[in-house]
Amino acid sequence: MAILVVGSVGYDTVETAAGSRKDALGGSATFFSVSGSYFAPVGMVAVVGEDFTTESVDLLKAHEVDVSGLQRAPGKTFRWSGVYGRDDVNSRETLDTQLNVFADFDPRLSPDHRSLPYLFLANIDPELQLNVLGQMEERPKLVAADTMNFWIDGKMEALNEVVRSVDVLFVDENEIRQLAAAHVGAVNVVRAARFIQNMGPETVIVKRGDHGLIQFMGDSIFAAPAYPLDTVVDPTGAGDSFAGGFVGYLAATGDLGPEAFRRAAVVGSVMGSFAVESFSVERLGALKQTDIAARFRDFGNISQFAPLQSNETLPWRDGAAAL
Ligand code: AMP
Repeated sequence: MAILVVGSVGYDTVETAAGSRKDALGGSATFFSVSGSYFAPVGMVAVVGEDFTTESVDLLKAHEVDVSGLQRAPGKTFRWSGVYGRDDVNSRETLDTQLNVFADFDPRLSPDHRSLPYLFLANIDPELQLNVLGQMEERPKLVAADTMNFWIDGKMEALNEVVRSVDVLFVDENEIRQLAAAHVGAVNVVRAARFIQNMGPETVIVKRGDHGLIQFMGDSIFAAPAYPLDTVVDPTGAGDSFAGGFVGYLAATGDLGPEAFRRAAVVGSVMGSFAVESFSVERLGALKQTDIAARFRDFGNISQFAPLQSNETLPWRDGAAAL
């Protein structure tokens, strides 16, 4: 089943411990679409400016992303720049965000897009996320969303409405604390996630960079590590690639049960791990199915342990009192 994504498409200028890139193809919808395209058809709703290159459009087309909802407007394409900590890939500072053509974007969904069963509201102005959700013919089977501190700081009201309207919310550790703090003061990640779940989304996925993720679904919790990599070249887009793999897997199987959500989270982690092995979508966009499947299997191996059988207990020391 097909997925519709609304999000940013733009050019990123990044500096990491591995080097730097100027004006590399990026944006939340770009990473999401390329990642999700391995599993399900993806249609994109976004806007670019006159300076958006044919090579960039061709790359999306090469992944069979439906770009009929990618409008071209007079002006410059969205731009973001950031720098990552030399020793800590999880620390990122945004140097500049230029919305450019996104500042006046008025998304118009085609009749085909309005009836797609999976909707991902990627990181973009929450008013645009709501606008797209409002144009859907009927409530999609699954609505998931992502955001960023930029919008928590600047568009809290609209963002609250987004949070109330979705089934799945992806957030990073700092963002969820910031989001919950605006309502209930400082709380730890578990309490923050529980608070956000009470606002609406049944599932909250807290992304913890190279520490992995925690998935809160109803009353249950699932934790997965990040795939251990020798070298992280550029963490940009890890979150959106995670979301692409996650929603892509669910859309491909049509299964929205708890086991499918756990697998989806691991597929997401696999896709995020590929995204950070290069700048832009260079590695993410050049994968073979066998690469993805091998890493997924590996993931099972690195996080597997023998659970206690029902007739088994831990090896207590001799003579210890049974407490
Ligand atoms: P991630 O690393 O997954 O959080 O996503 C990074 C991508 O989000 C980059 O490719 C940026 O172009 C894009 N981005 C950064 N800031 C914003 C923003 N305020 N709104 C929308 N997209 C953004």
